Amino acid sequence: MGNFKLTSVEEFEAATNRLLETGAKVGADAWQFRVKNQTPHCKFGEQGVCCRICSMGPCRITPKAPRGICGCDVHGIVGRNFLRFTAGGSATHSDHGREICHTLHTVAPDGNYKVKDPDKLIRIAKEWGVETEGKNIYDLAHEIAEMALLEYGKPFGTQRFLKRAPEHTQELWAKAEIEPRAIDREVATALHMTHMGCSSKPEALIRQSLRCGLSDGWGGSMCGTEFSDVMFGTPKPLDTEANLGVMKEDYVNIIVHGHDPSLSEMICDYAEDPEMIALAKSVGAKGINVAGVCCTSNEVAMRRGIPMAGNFLQQENVVLTGACEAIVVDVQCIFPALGPLSKCFHTKFITTSPIAQMPDSEFIRFNAETAGENAKLIVRTAVENFKNRKPELVHIPQLKQKATVGYSVEAIVKTLDKVTNSQVDVTGTTKPLIECITSGVLRGAVAMVGCNNPRVRPDSAHIDLMKKLIANDIIVVLSGCSAQAAARAGLMDKEARELCGAGLKRVCELADIPPVLHMGSCVDISRMMILASELAKDSGLNISQLPLVGCAPEWMSEKAVSIGNYVVATGIDTFLGVEPQVTGSSEVVGLLTDGIRDWVEAAYTVEKDIDKLGDLMIQRIEEKRAALGI
Ligand code: SF4
Ligand code: SF4
Repeated sequence: MGNFKLTSVEEFEAATNRLLETGAKVGADAWQFRVKNQTPHCKFGEQGVCCRICSMGPCRITPKAPRGICGCDVHGIVGRNFLRFTAGGSATHSDHGREICHTLHTVAPDGNYKVKDPDKLIRIAKEWGVETEGKNIYDLAHEIAEMALLEYGKPFGTQRFLKRAPEHTQELWAKAEIEPRAIDREVATALHMTHMGCSSKPEALIRQSLRCGLSDGWGGSMCGTEFSDVMFGTPKPLDTEANLGVMKEDYVNIIVHGHDPSLSEMICDYAEDPEMIALAKSVGAKGINVAGVCCTSNEVAMRRGIPMAGNFLQQENVVLTGACEAIVVDVQCIFPALGPLSKCFHTKFITTSPIAQMPDSEFIRFNAETAGENAKLIVRTAVENFKNRKPELVHIPQLKQKATVGYSVEAIVKTLDKVTNSQVDVTGTTKPLIECITSGVLRGAVAMVGCNNPRVRPDSAHIDLMKKLIANDIIVVLSGCSAQAAARAGLMDKEARELCGAGLKRVCELADIPPVLHMGSCVDISRMMILASELAKDSGLNISQLPLVGCAPEWMSEKAVSIGNYVVATGIDTFLGVEPQVTGSSEVVGLLTDGIRDWVEAAYTVEKDIDKLGDLMIQRIEEKRAALGI
């Protein structure tokens, strides 16, 4: 096995504990303490049985009080809460996608943003029926940006990207009446339906939850991913590193955190600017080191190989190293705690978006139109802050692992071409993967996604499940903070193939890939939907027949629920390690874990025992194989 060794969760925790010692010296708060303050949680909230959507309430359902003041029963309340939760997630991804479309509208040959993947733009234009012949690529980009922006609020029809799904899936959506129309409309309809005195029938509420999720996965998120690729390049496999040890003691460390690559791409550009590097040297640093946290990290890792410092529950740790000159954020999953925490150190907590403004931060507004000058100011602010470091507080845990990332659908298909006999088979398809699955060399695939959540020992569920799956010859595709857990542990090092069963190990050797493939950020789960669609089309099967399941073992956010809904609605059984706040309604639980199967051929499974969750996934994959007779 050579020198390869995974980094264990115990080592992650030892590093965190050491950082908390620094935090204690400066009186820093930390999520570990806040969790204690909030435990035990309110049972009404945990079960989803409290309602505060009108001022006759708040109401909560108990055996003695089975209805709210308006007469809504527990199933209506739980269903409405679930739909609102979904709408929050869908709105978030969709607004991110919209920002990307706006940025695409600003591209110019001499502007802040350019078209880096013209082929992809032309492909999308053709798909949307737009004439591309003889058209200037920038004119085409502006035209497509406008069409994409209209997807958010068009008055008629359904979303354009739905046509990418196999016909059978499209028929199911039409029959179940869950085809999303305009992206924003589904969020608005969700909020309308959940107003006092509108829908209280669980079936209607869950149907709209699926539709609102689909408007994200096959709309907002897909726009975010596709047009980010057009502007910043479609990811290709490349090498990087992960974990806190990617921060460098002698360098100015800039941490990018959040989601939108428009900001992080520009920061990376200016961190390489000779003027900024000279400035860094003039203040005594060796240079500028950019690393990422959360999904923004995934974006710049996938396209530039920028190292990944950590995932969701590591965000405070980067400040606790005492070596973070600036943590630069845009939107989503940013702990407001970073404000007060950064005040305990020299760190500048720089917020940049009007959408996410927080106390104790320095607000440097970032706009697509003025991106260059904004990014330069941010980098300069970080560099000039190097001299304020307190050397006695600096401690960077020496933990890092190698990772190969950048597996977009395009990159996966290209990788598969390498193992295709071009004399006999056509290239550019997913068929080699299907052959591996049909022959049993691979048993199936799991799409593992989602966050960290203090309800689960951080990262342990992600890592334990991945180890179990790959040992059983199941290939794993990853996104979001799940991907970072894998990278930090070392599972994205190609050497990790030693942990695989014989079949997957052979595939990894032949294709020269790690056993777990990084497909990007949370919006990039749309890539997984496209991959599943391609696999179905290339095999002639329905998506729900493929030995493929989704899993979010440590999920926490509203976005994760929106994602879960569109993954299930696409026909992929989805396994959760954290219980959604729906247990107060047997009807809602019944629909989510079983009833929706009649509409979309897939449903949720919830299991908090992570080892059992893994067994259930393997069992489902084997059931699907048996049904296909393979
Ligand atoms: S909508 Fe009904 S259940 Fe909800 S707070 Fe108002 S009265 Fe109570
Ligand atoms: S995986 Fe979850 S915590 Fe991580 S960036 Fe995405 S939504 Fe946020």
